[in-house]
Amino acid sequence: MNNIRIKTLQRKMKLYYKKSSRALPWRIKNQKNQDPYKTLISEIMLQQTRVNAVLDYYKNFLKKFPDLKSLALANENDILIAWSGLGYYRRARNLHKTAKIIFKEYESKIPSDKIVLKQLPGIGEYTSSAIASFAFGKEELVIDTNVERFIKRIFDINANKLSPIRIKELGEIIFPKKNRGDFAQAIMDFSNDYCTKLSPKCSSCIISQYCEYKGFDDLKKIKQKKNKKYCISYFIYDSKELFLIRRKPVEEILGGMYEVPSSIWKSNKKVADMEVIKLDKNYNPMFLKNTIKHEFSHFTLFSKVMIIKKEKIMIKIVLKENG
Ligand code: SF4
Repeated sequence: MNNIRIKTLQRKMKLYYKKSSRALPWRIKNQKNQDPYKTLISEIMLQQTRVNAVLDYYKNFLKKFPDLKSLALANENDILIAWSGLGYYRRARNLHKTAKIIFKEYESKIPSDKIVLKQLPGIGEYTSSAIASFAFGKEELVIDTNVERFIKRIFDINANKLSPIRIKELGEIIFPKKNRGDFAQAIMDFSNDYCTKLSPKCSSCIISQYCEYKGFDDLKKIKQKKNKKYCISYFIYDSKELFLIRRKPVEEILGGMYEVPSSIWKSNKKVADMEVIKLDKNYNPMFLKNTIKHEFSHFTLFSKVMIIKKEKIMIKIVLKENG
């Protein structure tokens, strides 16, 4: 693509951002840079999570932990409760660790330097660039999955795995030298409006003249079905209607959260069905009629629920942890 086309593409995106950018609570209208603390929270929440899923959690989280100090001094359990439902709980624990480090070592001021940011727990290549760029106006190349897809489509590169170096090289071609943060955010909003993952609206796209995308054959592959996993969950209650929950080990999926105990999640339904706890007739176990379906980002879990009433006799059930 020649220079004139690139400049026109940049101008069109700038105009689009000015007119149509999303009003997100962590963005400050008519102000160049975002608040660093709000940027930190929103960017950590947005890792592997869509904007719409984050909005309510973000607002409630900010109410509970309005600044870095309140977050650093908070109890981890309270942070996990505020995060509950958002998934990927390791992010919440890392965010807490990062807040404590910034509180102790940086006088509660979030560092503006990408290299320093990258050393903090849970902050990688993308998040460090996003904070440095959006909150401090540093001219970093901010490349998330939307920006990467946009770049590949502009150059009609049909490759699932392009090296980060190559993506950066292509990004350098289309990103302007100044206001790179706005340009990246423009692409992110544009990816929500036009250049969507599964059905890009090329026929009505305002920059289609400057895009070489021909439609990839592998869009169908992207739509491929998620993996399935199966387990048995054990709802164990007593005559006082108290029921048993356990805290999941920190290193596991949903680590640190509370759950009704379950068998190991298996991809083979028959094998999973064999995990029924053998009890004597005193317990009169029953199964819930419906199977419960939990959607995770990369698989669907189907859970059969075994209901066990604990009468007088104490039951000792040893449940294996999920792998
Ligand atoms: S023409 Fe299609 S692929 Fe290219 S930027 Fe527009 S929506 Fe995306």
